[in-house]
Amino acid sequence: MNTPAQSRNSSMIQLSEVRKNYGTYEVLKGINAEVGRGEVVVICGPSGSGKSTLIRTVNRLEEIQSGSITCEGNNIHRQMAARELNRLRSRIGFVFQSFNLFPHLSAIDNIAMSPIRVKGVAREEAYRKATQLLERVGLADKAQMFPGQLSGGQQQRVAIARALAMEPPVMLFDEPTSALDPEMVGEVLAVMKSLASDGMTMMCVTHEMGFARDVADRVWFIDDGQIIETAPPEDFFSNPQTGRAKRFLSDLR
Ligand code: ADP
Ligand code: MG
Repeated sequence: MNTPAQSRNSSMIQLSEVRKNYGTYEVLKGINAEVGRGEVVVICGPSGSGKSTLIRTVNRLEEIQSGSITCEGNNIHRQMAARELNRLRSRIGFVFQSFNLFPHLSAIDNIAMSPIRVKGVAREEAYRKATQLLERVGLADKAQMFPGQLSGGQQQRVAIARALAMEPPVMLFDEPTSALDPEMVGEVLAVMKSLASDGMTMMCVTHEMGFARDVADRVWFIDDGQIIETAPPEDFFSNPQTGRAKRFLSDLR
C-alpha cells in the first residue's frame, strides 16, 4: 500500500489529447489529465457530459479515436493481443453502477473466480483471500449468499471486493451508489473511504458531493466532453471558476 506521503510523487494514469466519437458525435473532445499514485479524483459534471465514457476508456471498455492513455506507463489503447489487454485490465478495477455480479455464483465465488481463472491463483489461496475481502467490506456472514439474496448495498460491496481480489493498483468507480436506496449509500461510501485512506489510487464518478469534500484530493469538473476545472474540493466547492460549474453546483442544492 502507498502512504499518502508518496502520493504526489509519481503518476499512475495519464490521459493525453483523448478524443472519442460515437458516430459523428464527439463525446470526448481532447482530454488531458493525470492521476497521481495514491490520488483520489472525483469526476463530476452534468448528465451526458461524458463522465462514464471517460472512465470506461481508462480500462478500454470503450475504444478511443485518438490520443493516448497510460496506466503505470503502459499504453492501454495500443494494439496488443487479447491476453495482454486482459492482463493490463486486471490492474485496473472497475465498479459499475449496476454491480454486474455473476448471478449464478455465490458472493465468495464471485470474488474468487477471477484470481483463479485469470491469474492462476491456487483455489485455496483465492478463497482465503476472498474471505478476508468479505470481512473487509463487512460481509463475512454472506459468503454463501447469491446476489439475488443480497441488498443493493451488499451487492455493491461484493462487487468492490471482487475488483479488489485482483489486487489492482487503481480502482475506477462509475456512479457506484446511484442505483442504491438512500439508506444503503453510506455503507458503500464507507468502503470507498477506507480504500482511499489505505492509499488506493481512485477515479470516482459520483454525485455524492459529501464524499468528494471528505475524500477527494481533486475534483475534475467535466462538461460537454472537456475537463473544464480541476481543483482540490475545498476550492472547487467554495470558489468554482466557471459559470458552468457554478450552475452545476447550485442545481445540486
Ligand atoms: P455521463 O456519464 O456524463 O452521463 P456518458 O459518457 O454516458 O455521459 O455519455 C456522453 C454522451 O455520449 C451522451 O450524449 C450519450 O448519449 C452519448 N453516448 C453514450 N454512450 C453511447 C453509445 N454507446 N452510443 C452512442 N452515444 C452514446
Ligand atoms: Mg454516466
